[in-house]
Amino acid sequence: MEELSVSSALKLVVRGTRQDTVINIGDVKVGGNKIVVIAGPCTVEGREQLLETAHSVKNSGASMLRGGAFKPRTLPYSFQGLGEEGLKLLAEAREETGLPIVTEVMSPQDVKTIEKYADVLQIGARNMQNFSLLKDVGKIEKPILLKRGLSAIINEWMGSAEYILNGGNNNVILCERGIRSFNRLTRFTLDIASVPIIKKVSHLPIIVDPSHAMGRRDLVIPMAKAAIAAGADGLIVEVHSEPEKALCDGPQQLRLNDFRRLMEELDTVANAIGRSL
Ligand code: PEP
Ligand code: MN
Repeated sequence: MEELSVSSALKLVVRGTRQDTVINIGDVKVGGNKIVVIAGPCTVEGREQLLETAHSVKNSGASMLRGGAFKPRTLPYSFQGLGEEGLKLLAEAREETGLPIVTEVMSPQDVKTIEKYADVLQIGARNMQNFSLLKDVGKIEKPILLKRGLSAIINEWMGSAEYILNGGNNNVILCERGIRSFNRLTRFTLDIASVPIIKKVSHLPIIVDPSHAMGRRDLVIPMAKAAIAAGADGLIVEVHSEPEKALCDGPQQLRLNDFRRLMEELDTVANAIGRSL
């Protein structure tokens, strides 16, 4: 069989003879034996919503908290996020729960501000090839969660990671979040195959986002299990205390008790493949 290979021009992200990269975020390790679950609302909407969700996901076993303060919305009329006020609420939630925070940076001009508050800076799917942004986050030390572009092939995604490593920041976590296909029943098509492919060709950790991939909460748990069974190092999952009232992505956000069930059911899957939650 032909060797599975990515572009020969890639230098830093390719596995070569390298061991798996393990990224340390406080006490959390991404890329080790333990599965990492990042959970929280799509968007920070207010103190009560964020803190209630944060405490609940922590009690269910999440290891990091997600929440967008700067949101990449398809339309300019939609809620754009609370900006720095949202970052302050995330910092407060970290203070209360001890969970490190993951939040999106959309623009080079916001890197400094977001770096002050976040433990991990997320580059969203829509910015995967924002090369100015990639160069700028390559110069910082905090870990970067690099989502796959909506229609990006693996070589392009790896090229974007290469930009960050080339800038000097080796702490990149890849995130498969679904790609466009002809199927309209789900929001995107989760490319589960990218997980074992990335594991083969790269030393970087990879996690999966079943929430944005599916766009509907009833399919999130099965795809989360499939991702872990396929070898993903973790998950990023949207959870909301009252998804019916969410200002963004309501239909795909798990309820607090759904997330608890996900964690219970995931434990069995993790154990079956010799990993732990
Ligand atoms: C998000 O995680 O909030 C998000 C917007 O995801 P994506 O960039 O994958 O669409
Ligand atoms: Mn979302």
